[in-house]
Amino acid sequence: MSEPSDLLVIGAGAIGLSAAWRAAQRGLRVCVVERDRPGAGATPAAAGLLAPTDPDEWRGARGAFNIAAMAEWPTFAAELEQAGDGPIAYRRDGALRIALDEDERAELALAAAVLGDNGVAHELVDAGGVHAAEPNVRGAVAGLIVDSDAHVDTGRLISGLARACARAGVRVCTPVEPLSTLRDHDGAIEGVRLSDGTEERATLTLLASGAWSAEATWLPEEVRPDVRPVAGEFVALQGDPDAPLVRRAIRGRHGSVAPREGGVLWVGTTVRDAGYVTAPSAGGIHAILDRWTRLVPAIAELGIIRIGHGLRPVSPDGMPYVGASSIPGLALATGHGREGIIHAPLTGEAIAALAAGEELPPLLAPFAPGRRTADRERPGL
Ligand SMILES: Cc1cc2nc3c(=O)[nH]c(=O)nc-3n(C[C@H](O)[C@H](O)[C@H](O)COP(=O)(O)OP(=O)(O)OC[C@H]3O[C@@H](n4cnc5c(N)ncnc54)[C@H](O)[C@@H]3O)c2cc1C
Repeated sequence: MSEPSDLLVIGAGAIGLSAAWRAAQRGLRVCVVERDRPGAGATPAAAGLLAPTDPDEWRGARGAFNIAAMAEWPTFAAELEQAGDGPIAYRRDGALRIALDEDERAELALAAAVLGDNGVAHELVDAGGVHAAEPNVRGAVAGLIVDSDAHVDTGRLISGLARACARAGVRVCTPVEPLSTLRDHDGAIEGVRLSDGTEERATLTLLASGAWSAEATWLPEEVRPDVRPVAGEFVALQGDPDAPLVRRAIRGRHGSVAPREGGVLWVGTTVRDAGYVTAPSAGGIHAILDRWTRLVPAIAELGIIRIGHGLRPVSPDGMPYVGASSIPGLALATGHGREGIIHAPLTGEAIAALAAGEELPPLLAPFAPGRRTADRERPGL
């Protein structure tokens, strides 16, 4: 039997690995259990846009979480590139949100007002301004440019986190998954029994299994979070590295385009509330290409290098669950929906603090796993 850990993380996505790395940096003993391989879930499928521009994403508790997480990103990226000894392609070169009709123009004006309330510099532009900013983008009646927005290559993020965890002494057990919990006399969780017949003991066990968190049958039912999988599909295209089609990330109401290193363009996405789908759908990929070849016609000439999909972990109220559960010894970090890459540094730090025996900051109180969640309208995710 291995030595007990201070933190045992179940799931090696952006959330679980960020928590593991931050905890190990504090000198804690950390073990990660992953049933497949690090990055087997939604994380590497994500556009990696660090650009919340929908009014919903800037308001209330969710907005406060996003603002705090965005503020962590520059330091997180710099430290991770050093600790993982390699680039994660974090680029702070802004994002352009485009409106295609008058309704969407009104939404942009609303988003601009919310950004202004939060002190985020932005520029609302007309069709001419969109053309000046991004000459290859067609059909927009207005745009919203936020220069402080950033994006990251999510494949590199996972490899960087895996390397940083290894260097910080995190043990990663794979491919293996929990079958049941180990409980003490008072019912507190003190680790898990694994599918390879071994046991892992820990002071704090963290459920960070993304869209599969609700399926954690190894946990008592009353602490399994209400999270559903919402699929998103994407296409990666190879562009000319010396003549990128877009200068910055582009967001429309129905998707995004993110420029990556070496001329690669990440183009997405769909929102399919269809359960645990295991492959991208022909209809979804068709819709993405149809939409973006009309908005950026030059895309039609590029070669497809990859199509893929991921399952976003979505809670009923659209907000993540971060913090201690009602059973001592168990914490949750899941339900990050379409903002899990934005949230990773803040959630990771919060879980590391919890594992070190510290209180969570008041900012995180609305995200307590035991909160009551009211169903929101599904399109808002
Ligand atoms: C197409 C698309 C675009 C997106 N774009 C963005 C974006 O631009 N910006 C943004 O902030 N977010 C974006 N997201 C959302 C983001 O990807 C997710 O919120 C985030 O990746 C969730 O991370 P996670 O670590 O919670 O889950 P995951 O990355 O899914 O990781 C969960 C891990 O747990 C493992 N696991 C599951 N069950 C078990 C088990 N029983 N035992 C052991 N291991 C287990 C899985 O194998 C997996 O490795 C996007 C998502 C998609 C699909």
